[in-house]
Amino acid sequence: MSAAGSTTRRVDRRLARARGAVLVGAVVALLLLPVASDDLFYQNMAILTFLLAIMASSWNIISGYTGYVSLGQSAFLGIGAYTTALIALRFPDVTPFAFVPVAGLASAVIAAAVGVVLMRTRDHSFVILTIAFLFVTQIVVLNWPALTHGSSGVTLPLPRWDLDFQNWPFYYSLLILMLATIALSWWIRRTKFGMGLFAIRDDEDKAATVGINTSIYKVLSFVASAVFIGMAGGVFAYYLTFIEPRGMFDIVISVQVVLAVVLGGRGTLWGPVLGAFMIEPLFELTNTELPGGNWRLVLSGGLMAVVVLFLPRGIIPSLTSLGRARRERGKAALVGARLERPVRVRERARTPASSPDGRPILEVKGLRKSFGGLEAVAGASFAVPEGSICGLIGPNGSGKTTTFNLIGGTMSADAGEVLLDGRRIDRLRPWERAYLGLGRTFQITRLFRQMSVLENVVAPLRTFSWRQMTASAVGGTEARRADELLDFVGMRRFRDHPADELSFGQQKLVELAQILMLDPKVILLDEPAGGINPTLIEEIAEMIRELNSAGKTFLIVEHNLPMVLGLCDPLLVLARGACICTGTPREIQANPLVLDAYLGEDYAAEEEVETA
Ligand code: ADP
Ligand code: MG
Repeated sequence: MSAAGSTTRRVDRRLARARGAVLVGAVVALLLLPVASDDLFYQNMAILTFLLAIMASSWNIISGYTGYVSLGQSAFLGIGAYTTALIALRFPDVTPFAFVPVAGLASAVIAAAVGVVLMRTRDHSFVILTIAFLFVTQIVVLNWPALTHGSSGVTLPLPRWDLDFQNWPFYYSLLILMLATIALSWWIRRTKFGMGLFAIRDDEDKAATVGINTSIYKVLSFVASAVFIGMAGGVFAYYLTFIEPRGMFDIVISVQVVLAVVLGGRGTLWGPVLGAFMIEPLFELTNTELPGGNWRLVLSGGLMAVVVLFLPRGIIPSLTSLGRARRERGKAALVGARLERPVRVRERARTPASSPDGRPILEVKGLRKSFGGLEAVAGASFAVPEGSICGLIGPNGSGKTTTFNLIGGTMSADAGEVLLDGRRIDRLRPWERAYLGLGRTFQITRLFRQMSVLENVVAPLRTFSWRQMTASAVGGTEARRADELLDFVGMRRFRDHPADELSFGQQKLVELAQILMLDPKVILLDEPAGGINPTLIEEIAEMIRELNSAGKTFLIVEHNLPMVLGLCDPLLVLARGACICTGTPREIQANPLVLDAYLGEDYAAEEEVETA
């Protein structure tokens, strides 16, 4: 493993060096291009290519990283263009380049305001609202002639530099903006901010339960994907010298941006740039070489169809996975290998676990939640004593998972209260509940599928701060803590594996380590033994006991009654959305109500399985 690992590292290093050399070469070539040629056709092509690359890289932040497909991002091109043009009209003696930062600022402010509203919607509604945003902006510009000159458009001053310089100042401005956009995109990927965006893309509700303030992250990603488009719009307006609403707020631009990113590879750093450098020149060439004006549209449609059919992930991801497959071939497959014996983690010194009849640390009072006519949780009330391993049992459909969703904040209750450590949390957002010490796992594990195991464990956040967002995604101390936790659940050797390659049981273990990263006071486990093998069940029970003796309180939903009876005290029984009784395992087993109505069938079935 270590020999294979070091070879891989060497190959990786060599690849990184080759990539660096190609990049430096490309940047130098772009910087020198003006010296080599004074052909206006190619200047124009380069300028439009940079513009498309800026838009594609920016769009990739909201739609590739965060997973929110926007068709309205080209509105910021118009917003930037108009901001620059209108200010330039007031100050004819100042070069319009000076107002480009203002264009970026205006775009950021509008993106923040619009983002607060738009980012509350998801999926199709979001796409449709972004299109609406684009059209509404256009309509506003058309119908506010006092400010925008309406449909007659705005003319900017002509460039005053020597004609020998041709369009090179535009070329260099957009080149710099393009490099800045790529730098932003690169930086985001390396920070906690970017990690949060990836988490949102993979599973937004889950991201919220592990402490990611999804509201702020989403709005910021919308802003980040607007700023440079706005600045580029400012330069572009000056380049065009005449702008009007229909050309500046054109959805075809958005479509072209999407096409560039999808072709190059959504969610990657270089995909959008590569896509832009392929598509824009292609369009320019076909525009001049082919007859008729609508070739661009026909080509867009055709190309989109080809990409979707034959290269659905785009060029860069396809190449990357091809390379990875080749390198992996020699290596022994780790997945499916036996788990190592869990190594014990040293929990921080804590007060020893209190007795099962300690003060309540989690309280639920009269909790209700209906789905249409079905009352899934119907006035459930119970308390979880501090330091206990409390079991929540009940037949399928009795509302256990829904109760967890209400406690964790994934769903909001119709009525009732939830108190954590004496404090009401039922109105708080999921991440605020996580900050107060609540951690939960899901019945069907929900890891961030496009992240590695280590990234999954490092992703949870225990507080929100602006500075934290800029911290590196996988920091030193956190990575060490994550390694310890992975050790604890026996999954350390899988740390660099993609989460979606793990078996179900392995995913459960990683999800447990992930939750422990939050250092929660109360841990809700939804069917930790569901669908995994008996040896692992025993190991999980052992881990739970150990964490409990280190001070963690558990509330566990579980169908495996032998496990529940051996592990949990007290037990709560839920039936039709209400807690019908509480007691020690012995009391619950002896309670005729429970035996008849609930344990009866289940328990008999379990016994049969055990003896079979
Ligand atoms: P349990 O976890 O105890 O098996 P659940 O809490 O998952 O039960 O479900 C309780 C009831 O609520 C079930 O009848 C289920 O079909 C229904 N239910 C759960 N979630 C939803 C939902 N999102 N929409 C509609 N019905 C739901
Ligand atoms: Mg359930």
